[in-house]
Amino acid sequence: MAKVNKNYLKLPGSYLFSAIGKKVREFSEANPEASIIRLGIGDVTQPIVPTVIEALHNAVDEMGRAESFRGYAPDLGYEFLRDVISREDYKARGCEISADEIFISDGAKCDCGNIQEIFGISNRVAVCDPVYPVYVDSNVMAGRTGAYNAQTGRFDNVIYMPCTAENGFVPDLPEEVPDLIYLCFPNNPTGAVITRPKLQKWVDYANRNNSIILYDAAYEAYIAEPDMPHSIYECDGARECAIEFRSFSKTAGFTGLRLGYTVIPLELETDGVKLWPLWARRHGTKYNGAPYIIQRAGEAVYSEKGRQQVREQISYYMGNAKYILDGLKSAGYEVSGGVNAPYIWLRTPGSMTSWEFFDELLMRANVVGTPGSGFGPSGEHYFRLTAFGSRESTIEAVDRIKRM
Ligand code: PLP
Repeated sequence: MAKVNKNYLKLPGSYLFSAIGKKVREFSEANPEASIIRLGIGDVTQPIVPTVIEALHNAVDEMGRAESFRGYAPDLGYEFLRDVISREDYKARGCEISADEIFISDGAKCDCGNIQEIFGISNRVAVCDPVYPVYVDSNVMAGRTGAYNAQTGRFDNVIYMPCTAENGFVPDLPEEVPDLIYLCFPNNPTGAVITRPKLQKWVDYANRNNSIILYDAAYEAYIAEPDMPHSIYECDGARECAIEFRSFSKTAGFTGLRLGYTVIPLELETDGVKLWPLWARRHGTKYNGAPYIIQRAGEAVYSEKGRQQVREQISYYMGNAKYILDGLKSAGYEVSGGVNAPYIWLRTPGSMTSWEFFDELLMRANVVGTPGSGFGPSGEHYFRLTAFGSRESTIEAVDRIKRM
């Protein structure tokens, strides 16, 4: 008899978004006249910028001509894309990351989820609480955790690092030393960002303890304040302890096109083994590359025009974030995030739970957000709103919340 991977049975199911969907469906059936505004989604809404569309068209045409047709992409991705990433995302910021250290993929979710495969099963994993669920669930599937404890909302054998108002939603260095540390800044769901000195402390901690940091910088393009680190490689010693993930999804609206990359420095090693060759082996064995046309589209993001258009799009979303942040503050809410990230993290009023606030917002303002408790127990009494809606619907949503 074929056996299943029983680790999958430890997963409680994607309760959060199915529960939200069910509640919203029931509410609209009972109130067909209500115009519901969704500020819970983590997906972009603005179209791909013209320069990227032009690059896509050109690349499609190339695929239709014998002399410019391309089949399988090179293992690490096309050099034209890796070169421009190395130059613009790293060297321009003083980080010595070469094109050879960049692995192109179809997005950060796969890479964040798959990276754990190159590490042993006995590694102790640390994650933030609240957390983007992929880091935890992929380790559960691999068997690196214990059972799910419904009482605590946590998996056994995982080090959870609470991110609270007291620590500014940036975790403290854990007392129990993890082997693998997932960090994500700017953060989903809290919208918090980490300062360079604080990130340097993490890098020093990892190097001191022989831990590896898995750094998710999917929202790097949203950083607006001048001194915040865009990459972990801005810290001294990060090449010896960190892997970084990036995505074109929120930077340039590629959620439907799919493009991202992972950086592994050539000298990075643990347990006496270099990690670059392991990931190269994994990549080459299980993955056949992001499509040529999408990699050309990614390259266009770095052109002068592409860069300007993408910047305008990000400003549009961050204009929404500011409207939400200012509006909710003026209405007396305790809010954070929204300055260097497209997420606004608000404290639910009084002793209301995240789900009670969800119901209240849906019923009284017809606005949908995401209950913070869905991202981990430390998210209880918090609520996430996103800046990815249209300007009109964002304004309308905030005005409705203010009238509640
Ligand atoms: N990392 C974080 C923190 C995210 O919030 C997301 C998407 O929501 C991703 C990674 C996934 O990015 P991609 O679309 O490139 O797979």
